[in-house]
Amino acid sequence: MARILILMDHGVDRVKVVTALREAGQSPIDPAPGWDAPSRLVQAVERATPDVLVIGCETDLEAACSRCELLMEGDTTRYLPTLVAIPHHPSEAEAIRVFAAGARDLVSLSDPMSLVSARIDNMARLNYLRRTFRKHHDALTARNEELDRIFETVTAGLALVDERGRVVRMNARGREILGAQAGRFGLDEHAPATTPTGGREHPIHRAALRGESVRGQRIEFAGARTGGERVLVVDAEPLFGEYGQRLGALVVFRDETDSIRMQETLRCKAQELALRTEEMEAFVYTASHDMKSPLWTIRRYAAMILEDRGETMGEEARHFLERIEVNAARLGDLVEDLVRVVKVGKMELFLEPIGVDRPAREALRNLDAAVRQSGARVDVPSGLPTVLADPDRLVDLFENLIGNAIKYRRPESPCEVTVSAVTEGENVHVQVQDNGLGIPEDQFERIFGLFQRLHTRDQIEGSGLGLAIVQRVVERHGGRIWVVSSLGEGSTFHVLLPAAPAGETAVPA
Ligand code: ADP
Repeated sequence: MARILILMDHGVDRVKVVTALREAGQSPIDPAPGWDAPSRLVQAVERATPDVLVIGCETDLEAACSRCELLMEGDTTRYLPTLVAIPHHPSEAEAIRVFAAGARDLVSLSDPMSLVSARIDNMARLNYLRRTFRKHHDALTARNEELDRIFETVTAGLALVDERGRVVRMNARGREILGAQAGRFGLDEHAPATTPTGGREHPIHRAALRGESVRGQRIEFAGARTGGERVLVVDAEPLFGEYGQRLGALVVFRDETDSIRMQETLRCKAQELALRTEEMEAFVYTASHDMKSPLWTIRRYAAMILEDRGETMGEEARHFLERIEVNAARLGDLVEDLVRVVKVGKMELFLEPIGVDRPAREALRNLDAAVRQSGARVDVPSGLPTVLADPDRLVDLFENLIGNAIKYRRPESPCEVTVSAVTEGENVHVQVQDNGLGIPEDQFERIFGLFQRLHTRDQIEGSGLGLAIVQRVVERHGGRIWVVSSLGEGSTFHVLLPAAPAGETAVPA
């Protein structure tokens, strides 16, 4: 409601004005006598924040005019509409004096009071509307400024496009990305969007003219900074008015040239690497294969000489021959493992549904000597879940994992190994757990690499290829392998393998 401040002498006229305004539905502010003393008039009025001031001049027109003049000196009061109420019909000279003092209107209290209150009320309402309008205007300005800040600080390029597809506004980042080439991209602030080459309709047209939402459309254009081809990835969202009419679109664009180039480089490098790896594996395979037979011959001859003449030859010569035999055997094992690593990556898999316990048991039979010699207790429960896998490769997997569990046992406590498996959704989660030496946490990934060993050959025999073979077997089946271990307490190797589809039962052993 409008605020009407009455500054009149306390008397009949004042009562008439206040009553008339109340009857008209207003609540005029009617302060106590002395409130409006000239010395504090401006501050008092400022605090009251009225929409209109009614100044009486029952006795003295000059006193009323000097009050108006005082208010004209205040920073905010000078803008307040002031209305002077005069007891009689004013003369022309009186009216000129009142308006010269800064009053906006002059009412005569000899007019019907309904007319007086209507004029006061009118002026108050007008100012109330002005005040409300200013409040909304200030709020809108603040909101616009906030939107402007967001528009400018967004790290992507932003463009506002009108309903004919013309850019009406672009942020600094957008101008930086496009530079002088905005037109070639179709985002020129002064020209309508053009359709770029490549056959597809420009995202601006799609959003602004057709009202479509566009996501991640690629546009290639000659860049501003380098002059080379650049790639923009564009999202565009159509904007609609209150009645569904098309207003244009908001276009968001990012310069993805570097990341796309990086991806392409990475793809090329990966292809190159795959080719090299293939060449290298082919070489390793052939070389290892070719080494097998000479190694076997060396070993065989060393053994034969030792057998035939060992008794008669000198101590030193016999020692050398024994070393030759041992090292030829070791080299032979290494070559075998190398051939297996390469082969496992290429060989055809013969998948069939198979219970996990079956290959685990077969591996255990192959490890019989090691199990006996170590006194290990290996637990493989029957009825473990069924996986879809190549049984021979699973035997390799368990032979390596159980073999390692026995090999890396703690000499001071009896070796215990447990194989377990549970179905988890589409996978079977297999675990091979031991109570052996354990593996430091920072080596959990490294041990699956080629030739990666945590123990020297003097401590424990090995080639560092076993887990690499296991990992390849698992990956060839589309599975995953990882280890969790605690030094001095033991290790658990976790393997995820695809479960056999429901209804497929394991092939009997
Ligand atoms: P190898 O046993 O021939 O050395 P692997 O690839 O099978 O090669 O294993 C790599 C390394 O991981 C081993 O040298 C050993 O240090 C460590 N390791 C593997 N399995 C275990 C285990 N169960 N307990 C402790 N260490 C292990």
